[in-house]
Amino acid sequence: MSTIPINAADPAQLRQWVDQAAYDAGFDLVAVASADSFATDREEALRRIDAGLMDGLPWFNAQRVQRGTDPEALLPGARSIISLGWNYYPPEDPDAPNDRGLVARYARGRDYHRVMKRRMRRMVLDLTERLGDRFAARWYVDDGPMLDRAAAARAGLGWFGKNGNILNPVYGSWLLLGQIITDLPLAADAPLAKTCGQCSRCMPACPTDAIVAPYVVDNRRCISYLTIEHKGAIPIELRASMGNWVFGCDICQEVCPVNRKAKSTGDPNFGRTDLSSVDLIELLAMNDDQFRQRFAGSPIMRAKREGMQRNACVALGNCGNASAVPALTHSLQSAPRLVRRHAAWALGRIGGRTARTSLRDALRDESDPEVLSEIRQALTAGDDT
Ligand code: SF4
Ligand code: SF4
Repeated sequence: MSTIPINAADPAQLRQWVDQAAYDAGFDLVAVASADSFATDREEALRRIDAGLMDGLPWFNAQRVQRGTDPEALLPGARSIISLGWNYYPPEDPDAPNDRGLVARYARGRDYHRVMKRRMRRMVLDLTERLGDRFAARWYVDDGPMLDRAAAARAGLGWFGKNGNILNPVYGSWLLLGQIITDLPLAADAPLAKTCGQCSRCMPACPTDAIVAPYVVDNRRCISYLTIEHKGAIPIELRASMGNWVFGCDICQEVCPVNRKAKSTGDPNFGRTDLSSVDLIELLAMNDDQFRQRFAGSPIMRAKREGMQRNACVALGNCGNASAVPALTHSLQSAPRLVRRHAAWALGRIGGRTARTSLRDALRDESDPEVLSEIRQALTAGDDT
């Protein structure tokens, strides 16, 4: 392999090596942005924090936004941002029976954070070998401080959709994003000239009205946040709109016309059909070992067993199937408090004599005030129907 010192490298050659390293590492898309600060995106992110739209994500605070929108603060001497996209759209997309819990497509495989970081590291090593010279680089996935979508939009990897996702003409929005900030002097790509135009299909399609304005998602209403990041009780007024999603939500992507012809991935890290949906009653009955065995290595571990069982209760309530009453009754009697609360809600939503008997029995035996309040509300809700 020929090596050229950085200062002597032809920019076009350098860029070719970057692209090659990205494809060799397994990425589907690569584009380059300048490392200028993201002033407009910073203001917008700070406005959203002030408006409370990011409540529940304590790590997404003003300090992090300041740092994450200033590449120089992340890497002194930063000159370029290599924006990377990894297609996760599964080749098989089986229809899930509606009494099972749905899992967002990106989570139907291995936890992408580790894989992506490994791939970016490999890219940097490849380039170091090519250049025969050291250069500075830091790499991030969506758990890092950089505003990954802002970097992707500036690099022309895609454009901002009204649902807040980055849309690419070939892969739609089924993309995981990563960035390498570097002091390499790379020629930047131009942002795409495309927009959503007159389309706004994703906005009314969102079942919880989380897309409160074009390009603005109220995190507190988004099923993706509620089923994964949110640790406490799901606001009672949103539960009935959550359908049977138990980890994430793809609705605003499913309805997007740009995704209609999206290319599927051949990457074996994605598309585990056994994770496209989960048996809700089985999930409710799992102990820690069984939960680990079933979901180890997948992003689902992030929601933890208790969170997933809370989500399973909501989904079972929305499925409305009376066959779930015994499992929910068992949870109402013996699960942790958070799950008991949601089991009570689900029994109230399913209704019927057996469910109401379970709720009345629990009213007698329960001592936790929050669970008692949910049981009373569930019995009252049943009175209305
Ligand atoms: S992920 Fe689901 S809940 Fe969140 S904005 Fe999109 S459609 Fe709405
Ligand atoms: S559904 Fe329409 S408005 Fe929403 S992201 Fe897709 S193209 Fe844009």
